[in-house]
Amino acid sequence: MSEIMLTPISPRDIGDRPLFNTGLSAVGRGGEDYVCGHCGHVMMQDFGLSRLETDIVFVCGSCGGHNVSEELKGRVPPPPAGEGTPPSV
Ligand SMILES: [Zn+2]
Repeated sequence: MSEIMLTPISPRDIGDRPLFNTGLSAVGRGGEDYVCGHCGHVMMQDFGLSRLETDIVFVCGSCGGHNVSEELKGRVPPPPAGEGTPPSV
């Protein structure tokens, strides 16, 4: 387990990404510790972000700052079931 510093962003960079407020500290079921890029607060302990399929914005419960994970950059959710292959044009 290691400590990973999240990338601080400003609120105008959130875009349409979903927000996740970690509260004072969110504890996962195994993984890394994620630290707020604004204030250094440990936002998530033992979290495995590699299982997430969407690029989300983490809101620090300590300073209210917004952070993103480089790990999740560019990830998009899979298409809803039933939308298999796009029709060819
Ligand atoms: Zn913070």
